[in-house]
Amino acid sequence: MSLSFTYQGSPAQIVFGSGASKRVGEWVEKIGASRALVLTTSHQKAEGEALAASLGKLAVGTYADATMHTPVDVTEEAVARATELGADCVVALGGGSTTGLGKAIALRTDLPQIVIPTTYAGSEVTSILGQTENGEKTTLRSPRVLPEVVIYDPDLTLGLPVAMSVTSGLNAIAHAAEALYAPDANPITSLMAIEGMRALKEALPVIVATPTDGDARAKALYGAWLCGTVLGQVAMSLHHKICHTLGGSFDTPHAETHAIMLPHTIGFNAEAAGDALAPVGEIFGGTPGQGLYEFAKSVGSPLALKDLGLTEADLDRAAEIATRNPYANPRPIDQASIRALLQDAWEGSRPP
Ligand code: NAD
Repeated sequence: MSLSFTYQGSPAQIVFGSGASKRVGEWVEKIGASRALVLTTSHQKAEGEALAASLGKLAVGTYADATMHTPVDVTEEAVARATELGADCVVALGGGSTTGLGKAIALRTDLPQIVIPTTYAGSEVTSILGQTENGEKTTLRSPRVLPEVVIYDPDLTLGLPVAMSVTSGLNAIAHAAEALYAPDANPITSLMAIEGMRALKEALPVIVATPTDGDARAKALYGAWLCGTVLGQVAMSLHHKICHTLGGSFDTPHAETHAIMLPHTIGFNAEAAGDALAPVGEIFGGTPGQGLYEFAKSVGSPLALKDLGLTEADLDRAAEIATRNPYANPRPIDQASIRALLQDAWEGSRPP
């Protein structure tokens, strides 16, 4: 075998451990800042205010309107608030929506970011930013948006509802599965992808049974970090393209869409990338598509796109949008094959 690859690690500082978020003030100072703006969604407003209070003089305020898919008007309002308060860093506490807002602020202001993730989405370790304006979602990659410090504290995920833990965990597994057959995959990203999937495979059933199990929560968050890291390092293909289409054009919820599509997209690509996807079969059992489907079912994931409110007519348009621009994928795609795949996912049938 001739081994040949390029690899670039991330410069981000990763801090992991139970209680680690209590030391956020130290990290504000370590990055040379002293006036943090704390970001959350409205749902996590109270947690953001408590964090700002615990930072004392190191926090200048909060902004609690982070919104899914990073609408540009929300970002502009948050940038105005950061400017008005003289903030010199942002602390984003929450899931991918809040992290996205921090990244969008950094893109426009270069303010350093400390992210404290509370879901398994993985955005905190990527230089990818999706933004929406006038109903259109566009995605960019820029080193400017990569957070400087990520503090993973499993204690903050103990209350993540089971249903969200499951779909968010499957969202993370999707990053790892697609990383295995990425055209720019390398031995390190594959190691991280396999370890990340294995950690989530072991942790999610325990979380479903006992949501406050600290060891399982730590293992899931560790898996999410690994899966997010590979999302940030290699190119994504069919699965992410379809989920982006469904979320961007049909407003389907992010994590649920990933969870439902995953067995179908990976089952589809397994025909052409069987060797690369072999670890998925080993970890989940059976063929990659069926193994993921049975696992998703066993942890109570939603399985059918029709349950997200999509109609069969939407599938025609989704297949057309998802095949409009070419991108790398191990198995050649055309509109008819993607339409058939979407039909299976809409019905929630067991993939081949
Ligand atoms: P989210 O951030 O929208 O969170 C969903 C809801 O759950 C929010 O109301 C949030 O406040 C709440 N929540 C989060 N953590 C909680 C907790 N521990 N306990 C209770 N409630 C909690 O959902 P998400 O799936 O994490 O993120 C989705 C967004 O992230 C999408 O916009 C997606 O495009 C983006 N994303 C981006 C990347 C990237 O690399 N750019 C990667 C993954 C996801």
